[in-house]
Amino acid sequence: MFKTLFFLVIASISSPAILIGQQKNIYIKAGFLYDSKQNKLLKNKLIKVQGTKIISIDDFESLPINNEVIDLTDYTVLPGLIDAHTHVLFSQDANEDFAEHSIQSLTMESDALRVLRGSKRAKSYLDHGITSIKDLGNSGSYLDVALRDAINEGTIEGPRIFASGPILAANGGQVYGVLPEHQNLIDLEYRIIKSPDDAKNAVREHVNQNVDVIKICADNIPNKTYLTVEEINSIVKTAHTYHLKVTAHCVTSQSAWNAVEAGVDGIEHGFNLADSTLTKMAEKQIFLVPTENSKSYMNTYAKLAGYNDDELDWIDNYINKMEVRLNRAINKGVPIVAGSDNYTDVKISRGKSSIDMFNYYFEAGMKPLDILQSSTYISAFHLNKENEIGYINPQAIADIIAVKGDIVNDFISTIENVVFIMKDGKIYNDKRGFY
Ligand SMILES: [Zn+2]
Repeated sequence: MFKTLFFLVIASISSPAILIGQQKNIYIKAGFLYDSKQNKLLKNKLIKVQGTKIISIDDFESLPINNEVIDLTDYTVLPGLIDAHTHVLFSQDANEDFAEHSIQSLTMESDALRVLRGSKRAKSYLDHGITSIKDLGNSGSYLDVALRDAINEGTIEGPRIFASGPILAANGGQVYGVLPEHQNLIDLEYRIIKSPDDAKNAVREHVNQNVDVIKICADNIPNKTYLTVEEINSIVKTAHTYHLKVTAHCVTSQSAWNAVEAGVDGIEHGFNLADSTLTKMAEKQIFLVPTENSKSYMNTYAKLAGYNDDELDWIDNYINKMEVRLNRAINKGVPIVAGSDNYTDVKISRGKSSIDMFNYYFEAGMKPLDILQSSTYISAFHLNKENEIGYINPQAIADIIAVKGDIVNDFISTIENVVFIMKDGKIYNDKRGFY
């Protein structure tokens, strides 16, 4: 046993050195480079990539001769984008009920089928330049962790996944209307918290399964149950000892206040946030992931869900309310992290449907570079990963994309026109010849 361990330690120390010896340099010439930390565009920069890492950023003049060069002088180069709220192991039709579909999935969709379907959805993010996703539950028993590992080991292609495992929630989870004798089904999808002590243990179970982040449901609306401040606090304290961030799904104003009081790192959705909650979030730099959609997406969704054309007034009201909420948060100084939460099948790939978040933030009045920062540096920072992803900087992972167009003055069509995608230093897609 000791010998095996000794061998593993030696192997893990020595193998990177052997690999580096074989790695060649790639130089990327960027006409414009988005500096996601400074939130500004730099002109004519040269990025040196070696293996999976970014080594340096210099001016064009420093390009040595006889090296492999990727010429992106006609493009804007960005860090790979991050969607901080996904559910790749879950999909429902627009006209389906969430609870009914969840039960159907748990009882009629095998884990094998669910993961295979999820892997196709995950890959579609990469197709649109989203090289990292934070997958926040509704993923069975750690199927998100399995998918992450399969991608990391190169078995399948897909974005870098930061997996939460099962959501920690009060009795019933988010699946409403389930009879008492069938509540055991909920345990297949959620980790039901029974007390502050149990909350501590639930985090340890998640740590033991190698999750990257802890996701809780501060409330379970329309189920009436919710986690107490003491339970959330126990989750946060335990998670922080393992350097894991905790983010809370919050629908009601009270649950958001409870989560903030208990010390969470982020709030997901936050449909109803009181001024006092926003002030406290700004003070403690607790991030908000606003998960809304654009007007055109909502119209498509409503049609698929079976609404008539004269029944769509609610869309404008909903979007207006969410825009006001987003701008109140921004004005208070709450960090905004971009996340889509798209899990409805709107008859396009999941990755394509999720880039609609850029449309929503733009329609809501956010400036293009601010939107980019929310989907790169700020997102990575609030995951403790700003030295690895979301920032083109020495020692970061070489997740690099390029877009064609004017990112400042023609944001939407430019961000949808990703022509070059590199993940882990490997070119995943290169469509420069066509644009
Ligand atoms: Zn969600």
